[in-house]
Amino acid sequence: MWYTKDTERVSIDLETNTETGLTNVEAKKRLDQVGANEFSEHKKESIFTLFFRQINSLLIYILIGAALISAFVGEYSDAIIIVLVILLNTIIGVIQESKAEKALEELKKMTTPKAIVKRDGMTVEIPSEHVVPGDIVIIDAGRFIPADIRLIETANFQVEESSLTGESVPIDKNADWVAAEELPIADQRNMAFMSTLSSYGRAIGIVVNTGMQTEIGKIANLLGKQEKEQTPLQKKLAELGKILGIGAVIVSVIIFLIGYFQGRDVLDMFLISVSLAVAAIPEGLPAIVTIVLALGVQRMIERQAVVRKLPAVETLGAVSVICSDKTGTLTQNKMTVTKVYVNGNYLSMNSPLLKQREYSRFFEAMALCNDAVFTEEEHSGDPTEIALVAAAHVAGFEKQILDKNYERIFEIAFDSDRKMMTTVHHHGGRYFVMVKGALESILPKIRVTTLEVDKIKNVANEMSAEALRVLAIAYKEIPTFDNSMTSEDLEKELIFLGLTGMIDPPREEVKASIAQCKQAGIQTIMITGDNQKTAFAIAKDLGIANEEIESMSGSEIDRLSESELCEKVNKIRVFARVSPEHKVKIVKALKTNERIVAMTGDGVNDAPSLKQADVGVAMGKGGTDVAKGAADIVLTDDNFATIVAAVEEGRNIYQNIKKSILFLLSCNLGEIITLFIAILLGWPAPLSAIHILWINLITDTLPAISLGLDPDDPDVMDQQPRSIKESIFAHGSGMFTLLYGLLIGSLTLFAFVTGLNYYTGAPSIFSIDFSNISKDALVHAQTMAFVTLSIAQLFHSLNLRSTKKSLREVGLFTNKFLLVSIFVGIALQALLVNVPVFNDIFDLHILSLKDWLFVLTLSLVPIIFSELSKAWKRIF
Ligand code: ATP
Repeated sequence: MWYTKDTERVSIDLETNTETGLTNVEAKKRLDQVGANEFSEHKKESIFTLFFRQINSLLIYILIGAALISAFVGEYSDAIIIVLVILLNTIIGVIQESKAEKALEELKKMTTPKAIVKRDGMTVEIPSEHVVPGDIVIIDAGRFIPADIRLIETANFQVEESSLTGESVPIDKNADWVAAEELPIADQRNMAFMSTLSSYGRAIGIVVNTGMQTEIGKIANLLGKQEKEQTPLQKKLAELGKILGIGAVIVSVIIFLIGYFQGRDVLDMFLISVSLAVAAIPEGLPAIVTIVLALGVQRMIERQAVVRKLPAVETLGAVSVICSDKTGTLTQNKMTVTKVYVNGNYLSMNSPLLKQREYSRFFEAMALCNDAVFTEEEHSGDPTEIALVAAAHVAGFEKQILDKNYERIFEIAFDSDRKMMTTVHHHGGRYFVMVKGALESILPKIRVTTLEVDKIKNVANEMSAEALRVLAIAYKEIPTFDNSMTSEDLEKELIFLGLTGMIDPPREEVKASIAQCKQAGIQTIMITGDNQKTAFAIAKDLGIANEEIESMSGSEIDRLSESELCEKVNKIRVFARVSPEHKVKIVKALKTNERIVAMTGDGVNDAPSLKQADVGVAMGKGGTDVAKGAADIVLTDDNFATIVAAVEEGRNIYQNIKKSILFLLSCNLGEIITLFIAILLGWPAPLSAIHILWINLITDTLPAISLGLDPDDPDVMDQQPRSIKESIFAHGSGMFTLLYGLLIGSLTLFAFVTGLNYYTGAPSIFSIDFSNISKDALVHAQTMAFVTLSIAQLFHSLNLRSTKKSLREVGLFTNKFLLVSIFVGIALQALLVNVPVFNDIFDLHILSLKDWLFVLTLSLVPIIFSELSKAWKRIF
């Protein structure tokens, strides 16, 4: 039991060095021995289960029954085709599903947390699967604990262990404590366990167990599988699918009954009805949606946005407000101190006066109350802190040397609620408290006259107006120090040392992105912990805000009631000096006003607001694991422009899915109308069961997917955001489906009766004697209907590419997949019709050149109609 051993024993037992960590060679060896630090995968679905799941539907069973009946009565070719269609459909379904599944898995891999370990004396970040027993890991606030760890050094370290113990109150951990007896997990205070969360402070520990050997690993098998999340659209589609399914079955039953009472062949009618039901239900739709979503997500990754929760892709497209952090997201987070205010002097950083002796305490404090690493070779840590150490360096003070002389014996880490940081140092028998932080946080704690306060505030305002980030530095000497001293004791009656003003230039690309958001009806709101004046100055520069009244501070939010905030929130563009709780309030207020909110965050305390937002966006580089865990998407470059790119992608994905859906529905409707009207009018069936199944196969698969992959619409960011409640049939899409269903159905019927008219020799289509038609004429006419219906549908897919733009404007060749799908479809039809073996099996007639010209012309009507109506819309 590691927690009963002292740290030295643990490091000896695990053959590691707490200063330098394992060597890379040793780590590799151990990784090979014990395996990756992850839970063994749940059993994947086998191809066979996937296959069976595709077949496992009532309609397919009926279809199999129909094939059996056909075989039984000697219609072997029908039976074979039906089985073949079922097989092909199933195979395509399996391929689609496993592709979608694979894409989702890849995604999961991209979002696994990283761990900081010592290897070969260097501090490196590695994927947490590569952590091995004996590794020395370094943990700061907000990180997931990557393995089971015996702590060897702790500074105010607290861990939230709810994932393991159910207890959500953070537990204090202490490396120096050693247990004398066996204890339950919750009481092992010198241990930290895999997948729990460090909520405060920092620690160093030795990895004792990894993967399935960890405490959580032992119960991982019990945790069961994660539920797959469905997007709102997928849920809506499932509903729609049910309604369509019921509708299709009802229509098929009606067609069957009409046919039956008209005295038609019962088996024929049965086969036609079942095939129609199968064709009318867009059973491929869920898989197509998943594929389009998953591929869209891949494209987002290329644009630096990793989607953690699939539903977010869709919500992204409907975002109407983006609330963004300032530092690092809108700005470069490359801080440089340019001005200082010290001993009553306002100086620029290149002033030779900086090196004066009386300024030394000021620079010492800023370097000591600081966790950054700054040497010739290496700069690491918080950019604000790096800037301060760099400024001290310019003034002639080296952090490394100071750290040795002024031993740090206590610290209260920076947190964005308190907006300050305090350390206690021991130097030659004297004790110093060093403090740095936001001026608002430090002013109440310093000993100064009102006159001095006014002067300090004036300088701070001057710095802020120049968009500088202002930090105050203070200190005091205390006679002695003991661990029972509270922050109130340490942080009262401080002596003011000075102010630093640092620039953080805006990111170049952000201005254009903000302008693009405006164009796209999306509001940008800056939310920052920084000072109101500084924040506004940067917001103005970026084009987020124009007037100072568009900014509000956290304390103002506190003074407003919920309803007052709701009222004001729409006019505010900059929220400054906010704490993470304010962020939650802001999101709530915006959501009450029916806005769809994307909110960024990086800290431990940002998790609630990220969860509250419609789309939570975490920073991949600077963000904590907690923020990433709570977010829907993670930005790998922490850049605001990436959020906008993701919104654009989200809009495109939604549009493309909609295109596929409307295409499938209008085509299926065309098929239903063709048969329903013909049967109702007492005509022979224009299509046989296998014709219907075949058409369904060639149109429902390739063209529908190709539409889902349509290239991005360059105008998508010129439109207003879509309402999340909007149905896919909104904005005339329902009418569109109906209209083209009717048109395609009518064209097919027209091709059919024209064929009958011609090949029965009737004087006109109105004088065909439907009761007396030769088999040859019927097959000929059916072939014409078959070809018209399929090719009209294939061409119709082009209509879906844009609701407004003509094909020429969209670019006929921009979606090559679709062109290939159409070409393959037409080629297959030509093959079936012209090659004797096939036309025999499919009961088709070879068409003459005249027939071909006729059916091709009819098939082009939907495109011509659509192009004319788009031109009409553009002109009027
Ligand atoms: P954003 O919320 O846009 O990222 P931010 O980085 O300014 O902005 P916080 O990190 O919460 O927000 O910082 C809030 C304030 O706390 C800063 O304006 C600064 O005055 C102070 N501050 C920031 N970093 C430190 C630090 N390391 N030590 C002490 N005070 C700090």
